[in-house]
Amino acid sequence: MRLLISRLITGARASTNLQRTITLRYKNTMGDEVQKAQQAGGEEDTIFGKIARKEIPCEFLFEDDKCVAFNDISPQAPKHILVIPRKPIRQLSLADDSDEQLLGHLLLVARRVAKEQGLGSGFRLVINDGKDGAQSVYHLHIHILGGRQMQWPPG
Ligand code: AMP
Repeated sequence: MRLLISRLITGARASTNLQRTITLRYKNTMGDEVQKAQQAGGEEDTIFGKIARKEIPCEFLFEDDKCVAFNDISPQAPKHILVIPRKPIRQLSLADDSDEQLLGHLLLVARRVAKEQGLGSGFRLVINDGKDGAQSVYHLHIHILGGRQMQWPPG
């Protein structure tokens, strides 16, 4: 009986330790971007607003009167490009019904830029929305990722 109780206690301790290890591993693998995203969202104007208005220098891969595209500063793939509207929409979930044409335009620009950047064999578009979506810059943007085999599911 004593042996059984002792084994049960050892088992419970092992399981608590395992849980602690998993929690720590999870925290350690939470990327910088995700940590940044958890603190973001307070600011009215953003770095992307300044880029779109050309207040800070940035080489555009594409621009028209509605949007601009430029390389991501911290690429997660051989090609990692952002397409942003000039209009400062904070996030997709706050876009208005009247933004329908603009949102369609952003997708077509993403398609065009992907083609121009040689991503003919495929690419991925990502829009992170809000805290759980790991959005870190609160100016709507479409990520274009390509140049390598994408995996699924995403993290
Ligand atoms: P998200 O996490 O979806 O909000 O994505 C924001 C993205 O913006 C990240 O991939 C950053 O690497 C990128 N980023 C932040 N600042 C700049 C910048 N000044 N120029 C280009 N990309 C940037």
